[in-house]
Amino acid sequence: MTAPLQLRIGVLHGDGIGPEVVPAAVKVIDAALAAQSEVAIAWQRLPIGHEAIAVCGEPTPATTLEALDILDAWILGPHDSASYPEPWRSQLTPGGAIRKRFDLFANIRPARALTGTDAVVPKMDLVVVRENTEGFYADRNMHVGSGEFMPTPDLAMAVGVVTRRACERIAHEAFRLAQSRRGAVTIAHKANVLSMTTGLFRDVCLEVAQQYPDVAVDHQHIDALAAHLVRHGDSFDVIVTENMFGDILSDLTGELAGSIGIAPSLNSSDTKAMAQAAHGAAPDIAGLGIANPVATILSSAMLLRWLAIKHDRPGCADLASTIETAVDTVITDGIYTADLGGDASTGTFVEAVTTTIARL
Ligand code: ATP
Repeated sequence: MTAPLQLRIGVLHGDGIGPEVVPAAVKVIDAALAAQSEVAIAWQRLPIGHEAIAVCGEPTPATTLEALDILDAWILGPHDSASYPEPWRSQLTPGGAIRKRFDLFANIRPARALTGTDAVVPKMDLVVVRENTEGFYADRNMHVGSGEFMPTPDLAMAVGVVTRRACERIAHEAFRLAQSRRGAVTIAHKANVLSMTTGLFRDVCLEVAQQYPDVAVDHQHIDALAAHLVRHGDSFDVIVTENMFGDILSDLTGELAGSIGIAPSLNSSDTKAMAQAAHGAAPDIAGLGIANPVATILSSAMLLRWLAIKHDRPGCADLASTIETAVDTVITDGIYTADLGGDASTGTFVEAVTTTIARL
């Protein structure tokens, strides 16, 4: 018998609803682990955000970053950096700092409507593939310093960055993903206005497309695409786009698929991966026990699939399937949180998922 795959996975709660939804995901994975012997996980709690300010005096401590260096992967909660005291409020967010340090260039954000929920686009099943390292997010697109600056108190400027290398690697991610799905990629850009930057993004993606003749490709302006997603969001498969467009678009697709609270996301390089829900810290509902943990649970399932491929251990992907099936079953049974129109608390939902896993 093969020895169990031993994984070390970081647990970073983050801010707002993070301390509610991240432990929920850990609990669900633990429930799935209990029924098998192929994978063992050693969890490592690490402070980030407000918790880290209290314990270490800064939101993104070097000790946390150094601990991540030796982990296989981690689950990161959302951060509410707008509520940090200065100087941290104006600095790179914890999530941005981690993505930059580990060059997590691919942000994969599926939007799949769950049966039994009242989604705006009930048949939506697409994936936004977001370039995660440059583009128009000026706080992380420079090697040193920020691409956003204020020469005078009344003049603010920002620099966008698009490189051939970054476009090529994210395009390959998108086309490979499309090959494993319905075989269609839409390139989202705004080349009629940002002709050099997003024009380069579009053109490089179209060049890469030639290496994937089995994948259908088209390209659309980001604004037109937003409208098309509302009208017929069920006709898209994979959408590849730059950093900021991808962030905005995936909030839209998450909500069209039912709720931003069910929209998972995985950030990865070739060697490291981080599960982090697409949503933010949701400070308006933090501490109320009503946050939807589905996005973080499904992000963690994506992480397990990524680890399965990295370590060539299908048992790890089986864990992900168990978790996804349990989430689908519980929601189909009508147990879900208020953002989806239900009345379950976070705790009730997680309890239902772990009980279902035990029965599968
Ligand atoms: P960020 O910029 O960090 O992504 P944001 O400003 O886009 O954050 P969110 O924190 O994602 O905003 O919240 C947007 C809305 O969605 C809020 O009303 C929030 O309560 C709701 N929301 C976000 N996540 C969840 C969740 N997991 N469960 C329920 N509601 C959520």
